[in-house]
Amino acid sequence: MKDDAATALIHHPYRPPAGFESPQVAVHKASTVFFPDVAALRARDWRRRDAYTYGLHGTPTTFVLEERIAALEGGCHCVLAPSGLAAIALVDLALLAPGDELLLPANVYGPSRELARHELARQGIVHRLYDPLDPASLEAQLGERSRLVWLEAPGSVTMEFPDLRGLVAVAQRHGVTTALDDTWGSGLAFDGFALGIDIVMQALTKYPSGGGDVLMGAVVTREAPLHERIKSTHMHLGLGVGANDVEAVLRGLASLPLRYRAQDAVGRALARWLAGRPEVTEVRHPALEGSPGHEHWRSLCTDAAGLFSVLFDARHDAARVDAFVDALRLFRIGYSWAGPVSLAVPYDLAAMRGERAPQGHLVRLSIGLEEEQALRADLEQALERAFGAA
Ligand SMILES: *Cc1c(COP(=O)(O)O)cnc(C)c1O
Repeated sequence: MKDDAATALIHHPYRPPAGFESPQVAVHKASTVFFPDVAALRARDWRRRDAYTYGLHGTPTTFVLEERIAALEGGCHCVLAPSGLAAIALVDLALLAPGDELLLPANVYGPSRELARHELARQGIVHRLYDPLDPASLEAQLGERSRLVWLEAPGSVTMEFPDLRGLVAVAQRHGVTTALDDTWGSGLAFDGFALGIDIVMQALTKYPSGGGDVLMGAVVTREAPLHERIKSTHMHLGLGVGANDVEAVLRGLASLPLRYRAQDAVGRALARWLAGRPEVTEVRHPALEGSPGHEHWRSLCTDAAGLFSVLFDARHDAARVDAFVDALRLFRIGYSWAGPVSLAVPYDLAAMRGERAPQGHLVRLSIGLEEEQALRADLEQALERAFGAA
């Protein structure tokens, strides 16, 4: 995390109307924006940020969030999208044309791969999977028509932390654009741009919102030509975001570093405790020694998200693992993460990853803002109820 990030999220260049100062940014809602005269209407360019054209192209409220997310990631430009997945689709559609190839890590966020399998395939865009722990595997997949490499640290659900430096070096050697899904890192755990990555995307749905009640995504860049390309596609697709949702994310940002660290501390403590339980065969948490890619995490990060996966032995009936999840009381069953309520989801590894899947039954846990002791007691009673007679 950049040293001054927490302070920069609170002290920012936003200036309220003259004579009025308060902590929060005003919620400006608009489709229509008035022009003083026809000459002004004709002169205005939606790409520019020094004037407003139409609600879809930005308001004072959305501009502030864009600037803060760009600052959080250490980038220069940002566009907002109505979800994290929409932000991924925006990057793909802005950069890829028929005949192009897209490289995805084998442990990529599932819907990103589904987007490639369905919508991108229909456009004649091919995707290939590489092993995120092995830069040589990326090297072997890159070809003449490769245009974009997605990176994700750690990968979704199975939580392997990739060799980001090695992967970026390979992509750069081939002159291929790199895009990082930084939802887990939230701009705090490590600095994607410092690694030479071209595009950093985040699901603001997760940590920046922190409420479990907003869907939003962001795409951050440093280079103006890359930003302009993404901004054009963003405009052509009509990807707007609601002012009230923007306000909710702005509100969440001030407490982002505090929540991130608090959820990390409790997540790590519970991950270590679970790793010592007899019912559990493996805990996948990048900060835990022995977790796949732990050495890559350690070389880049000291912080981690409060998110990890627990593996139960394959010899257990899957119904027993479901019974464990059903027995949880504080952990609720639901998708997404980084909200106030801790969540648990069992994943079908074979269906997700095929032969590459680790063995066993996997349950992903997202740590909320409850007390560590209460969460531990909840996990303990659920383990005992489900596995007590094992
Ligand atoms: C949740 C998530 C997304 C998508 O975000 P949505 O706002 O739910 O569309 C993308 N990438 C990762 C790694 C995520 O966890």
